[in-house]
Amino acid sequence: MALIELENVGRRYEVDPPFDALRNVSLSIEKRDSVAIVGPSGSGKSTLLNIIGCLDRPTSGTYRLNGLDTAQIGDRILASLRAQQIGFVFQSFHLLSFRSAVDNVMLAELYLRRPRAGRRERAMAALDRVGLASRAEYRPSAMSGGERQRVALARALVTEPPLLLCDEPTGNLDSANTASVLGLIDDLRADGLTVVMITHDPSVASHAERVVRIVDGQLSEETALATRGES
Ligand code: ADP
Ligand code: MG
Repeated sequence: MALIELENVGRRYEVDPPFDALRNVSLSIEKRDSVAIVGPSGSGKSTLLNIIGCLDRPTSGTYRLNGLDTAQIGDRILASLRAQQIGFVFQSFHLLSFRSAVDNVMLAELYLRRPRAGRRERAMAALDRVGLASRAEYRPSAMSGGERQRVALARALVTEPPLLLCDEPTGNLDSANTASVLGLIDDLRADGLTVVMITHDPSVASHAERVVRIVDGQLSEETALATRGES
């Protein structure tokens, strides 16, 4: 059974006139797949990722996560499913600037029914995994972009989700930090994580096994090899 299964998914924004940001998108992603989503700005990439991540719902079609039709699941249950199963990483990190790195990571557990005991230790272990144990007490405002994104990765991972969704995770990083964040994500994949990543950068997309392209809200699959040839 596929982990993620979209069938003819549409997302219409009720602006005037109504705008179809996604049209008839069908996509199936197996556990342990890694998929890059590419396409021009405004083509619907974030809209799609938000639906996959249960931050938003389709306005037509069906989205099954782990075999469950998300249309049949209420908002509260969906939010708790999301907290357990999905880690998010965004281009702009979305960290609290004036809380320490370890506090930021600990906050990810708030929506889980995990015991409070050990919360700090689990956050420290996640920071250690991204090579930032020694920076645990730093505030993001005092960190480099690459370090902030690694804190965001630790926050996404502390809940041990099987699925990691990344929206332009390297969009604000220089090439050295891009390489370190991608290297970490590659390690996570080797450990069995499923990764779906939006990117503008063909060399970032080439880390994925599959590349899907969105243009004007419509999706097509291409071979990863073809994308590797782009410049
Ligand atoms: P991308 O991530 O590929 O740049 P988005 O998924 O963010 O694109 O947006 C796709 C299109 O939908 C854009 O034209 C955007 O302006 C529009 N859009 C996004 N969110 C909304 C919204 N809440 N209301 C109306 N239009 C939206
Ligand atoms: Mg976007």
